[in-house]
Amino acid sequence: MSDIVTSLKELLPEDKISTHPDQLEVVSQDESSMPGIRPIAVLWPTSSTEIAEIVQLARQYKTPITTRGAGSALEGSTIPLDNGIVVDVSRMTSITDFWPNDLQVRVEPGIIYDNLNHYLKNDGLFFPPSPGGSGDIATIGGMVSTNASGIYSVKYGGTRAYILELEVVTGEGEIIRIGNRAIKRSSGYNLVDLISGSEGTLAIITSVTLKLAGLPESRLKEAYRFPDELSASKAVSEICRYGLDLAAIEFLDRAVIDALNQLKSYNIPNTPILFLEYHGPESTTSANASLTGDICTELGGSKLVLADNQNPWEIRHWATEAIKHRKPGYAILRNDVAFPISHLAEMVEFCHTTAKEHGITMHTFGHVGLGLLHALMLARRDNKAEWESAQKINNAIIRKTIQLGGTVSGEHGIGLGHKQLFIEEHGLSVELMKKIKSQFDPDSILNPGKIFDL
Ligand SMILES: Cc1cc2nc3c(=O)[nH]c(=O)nc-3n(C[C@H](O)[C@H](O)[C@H](O)COP(=O)(O)OP(=O)(O)OC[C@H]3O[C@@H](n4cnc5c(N)ncnc54)[C@H](O)[C@@H]3O)c2cc1C
Repeated sequence: MSDIVTSLKELLPEDKISTHPDQLEVVSQDESSMPGIRPIAVLWPTSSTEIAEIVQLARQYKTPITTRGAGSALEGSTIPLDNGIVVDVSRMTSITDFWPNDLQVRVEPGIIYDNLNHYLKNDGLFFPPSPGGSGDIATIGGMVSTNASGIYSVKYGGTRAYILELEVVTGEGEIIRIGNRAIKRSSGYNLVDLISGSEGTLAIITSVTLKLAGLPESRLKEAYRFPDELSASKAVSEICRYGLDLAAIEFLDRAVIDALNQLKSYNIPNTPILFLEYHGPESTTSANASLTGDICTELGGSKLVLADNQNPWEIRHWATEAIKHRKPGYAILRNDVAFPISHLAEMVEFCHTTAKEHGITMHTFGHVGLGLLHALMLARRDNKAEWESAQKINNAIIRKTIQLGGTVSGEHGIGLGHKQLFIEEHGLSVELMKKIKSQFDPDSILNPGKIFDL
C-alpha cells in the first residue's frame, strides 16, 4: 500500500475512502470513448475542510488528484491518472442558502442539475443552461468546471453567465472564496470566470453561488422538417440574423433522426429537423413563432406535428445514445466545435462531404442557435484504417472551425481529447495559461495533463 493511501485512511472515516477494485473501476472512466485508468484510491469528502486536508496530503506525496462530479464528461477530463486519487464530490449535494427575492442560490458542488431545478420550481425560478442529454446526471460543480451549456443557452447563456461566487480549494490546500453576490462588479480580476471551464486543473470547487432566471410565463414548442441539411442550417442562420427571440434552436440531421427512430421507434420522418422553443407572454411567443415559421417555410421547411406523447427535448435527450446503438462494438469519435453562426450551413456540409469521402457515416446535431455543432462518427478502434480516417475527419472539421474564427470546444472542454488542436487555436496564450496554473497549483497535482501538458 502506498504511503498516501495509509495517510488518507488515517485522515478519513472508513466509509469515505475505498481502494476496492470495483469502486476504482467505477471512477476510472467518463462518458468519452477513451480507455479508463484506475486510480489508487477514491475518496468521498463531505466538506471543504476535508477536501483541503486531502489536497495538503496529496501535495506532500506529489499525488495527482482528479475531481469527479458525475463523470459525464465527454473528453476524458474526468479520467484519473494511474498513480492518482479521485476526489468524488457526489455526496456534497446540499442547497446551503436560497435567496428567492434576489434570484440566487448557493449549493454544494455535487448537486445534480435537474434536482436543483426541481427545488427551484416551487418559487418560479430556474437555472437555465439545460445540458441536452445529461441534465439528469451532471453536477453543478462539473457544469461550472466545463462551462456547460445546453438547450436554453441560446436565450439565457451558458453556466459561466450565472456564477456569482465560488468557494474553492487551491492546489496548495487553501480554502478561498472568490466573487460575491453582487450582480454587477468592477473590482479586481475575474477569477470566477477563470475557474469556470478549467476542468479541475486550477482548484476544487466546494461551493457555488448562482444567479437564477424566472420561469417563463408560457412556452411554445415547435418542430420543422427540411428537405436537406443545407436548408435547415440556412434557416438557423436566418432566424439568428433577424434577432428573433428563441429560447432553443436545436438541429438534428437525418442520420441522427434515423438513429432515434431505430432506438425509440418514434416514427418521425427521416429528414433534418429543427426543434424550436419560445419563452415569454403568449402574444410574444406566437408572434416570434409566426416570423420564424415564415423563414423556415421560405427555405423549404414544413411544420412537423409531433405525436401527443412526443416531447422534442425527450427525443433530443436520446441523440447520443441512439447513435451509439447504431453499430454495437463501434466507438464514438466526436467534436463540439463552435463558430460564428453565418458559417453553420458551410460547416454542416463540410462535415458530411468530408466523412462521405472516407466512407464514414456522419451525424451532426447540437445547440446550433449558439453556433455550436456536434459531429459524431462511429468507428472501430481495432480497425486501424477506419479509426485513423475518422480521426482525420475530426481534425479537418476542427481545423476548418479554427480557420473560420471558431473554437475546438464550445461545450465539453479539452480534457485529453484535442490538446494539439487546442494549441493551434490558442497559440502563445497557452504559455500564459500554464503560468496561471502554476499560481493556483504550484506542484501540478490538480488534474495534470488535462487541457495541456506542462
Ligand atoms: C449524453 C450526454 C449529453 C451531454 N450533453 C451536454 C450538453 O448538452 N452540454 C454540455 O455542456 N455538456 C454535455 N455533456 C457533457 C457533460 O454532461 C457536462 O460536461 C457536465 O457539465 C459534466 O458534469 P459532471 O458532473 O458529470 O462532471 P465530471 O464529468 O465529473 O467532471 C467534468 C470535469 O470537471 C471537473 N470537476 C467536476 N467537479 C468538479 C469540482 N467540484 N471542482 C473542480 N473540478 C471539478 C472534473 O475534474 C472534470 O475535469 C453531455 C454528456 C452526455 C453523456
